[in-house]
Amino acid sequence: MLSYNEAAAVVRHEAELVLAGARNVERVSLLDAAGRVLAEAVVADRDQPPFDRSTRDGFACRAAELRAGALRVAGQLRAGEAWAGGAMGRGEAVEIMTGAAVPPGADCVVMVEHVAVADGWVSLAGARQLTSGENIVPAGAEARGGDLVVPTGRRMGVTEIAAAAACGAAVLPVFARPKVAILSTGDELVEVAEKPLAHQIRNSNSYSLAAQVAAGGGEPVVFAVVRDDRDATEKAIRQALDSDLVLLTGGVSMGKFDFVEQALMALGAEFFFTGARIQPGKPVVFGKLPGRYFLGLPGNPISTMVTFALFAAPLLRALGGESECGSRFKMARLQEEVRLKPGLTRFLPARVESEVRGASVRRIAWQGSGDLAAAAQANCFLVAPETAEQLEAGEIVTVLEI
Ligand code: AMP
Ligand code: MG
Repeated sequence: MLSYNEAAAVVRHEAELVLAGARNVERVSLLDAAGRVLAEAVVADRDQPPFDRSTRDGFACRAAELRAGALRVAGQLRAGEAWAGGAMGRGEAVEIMTGAAVPPGADCVVMVEHVAVADGWVSLAGARQLTSGENIVPAGAEARGGDLVVPTGRRMGVTEIAAAAACGAAVLPVFARPKVAILSTGDELVEVAEKPLAHQIRNSNSYSLAAQVAAGGGEPVVFAVVRDDRDATEKAIRQALDSDLVLLTGGVSMGKFDFVEQALMALGAEFFFTGARIQPGKPVVFGKLPGRYFLGLPGNPISTMVTFALFAAPLLRALGGESECGSRFKMARLQEEVRLKPGLTRFLPARVESEVRGASVRRIAWQGSGDLAAAAQANCFLVAPETAEQLEAGEIVTVLEI
């Protein structure tokens, strides 16, 4: 059975193959582009800034002249206004607003807070210093026309959206969202709106997976619950074969009524791994049906969400063309020591709190991988390496974002 690292490497390899392949492109307006993956780089259509930009309200002038004495205020420049006065003369200053184009001849902008103004003359207040270049971003200092601003394969977040807007990209080519089939298996499962009998369980995995798929840029397609029957499982998988990725939950363990692997085999599946040395999620299976990948995720709800984050999410992001497709890990300081049994890489429900000084993390007590009440208190999973017997309080540890 593969270690976590080995299993992750298998997924990474497949994700790289996927990224190297072709995928469909659609065009969306910039307002609809958040969360989509860019299919063509955004390039600066002109220099940024396009003119020498004042970053302060104040007076455009020559620093050496203002240091030497008062200057005559020759005019006023608002943001969005073109200066018509030609090069600024000797002994002159121009009142200027933040975001306006600095008039030719000026080499700095002195902040309005740093000057005294009287009778159309401006002078440096008190012991204020002023240097050439101050409070001006020169034309082209941020980007030159033709420079790459947002690369292909980048998921459009807040910063990328703003940069694309500045480049005039009103419509963006983005990769089509991968279609992800979600099949939950289990005779004990009833739908959320139904009233379960005492021995029945509500289907939560289809919903948590749909949320994870959407967050990973995919389009979830949720199928009806599949009964624990070999033929029914095979038939259900067949119906899901027009999707880019097939996710199954439950039925991958050693139970007498776990038919997922058999059904996949009957459909000609190739298995890349069956099981990984992780907890929760050890029975996870990964492979390829003709033309598309599948993952069989263990049915315990926390196992399902952890194995999705570890193995399905990277593949999904790659299918969506996102170049940074790996699982989302971050570092945090452990609040209290954790004792462990070595042998498996463990993913323990935990809550990370982020502050400017860094993130700290504490475990959430749980009753095992079916404990959704505990999961709802968690916002990440603390990663305990396979060989660790203890993680110390204060230690910097890895957490998996969910
Ligand atoms: P299995 O992997 O099929 O052996 O299921 C393991 C455990 O997860 C059992 O306790 C199931 O009742 C539970 N389980 C399986 N599928 C789901 C689901 N879709 N929603 C909630 N719990 C589930
Ligand atoms: Mg089951």
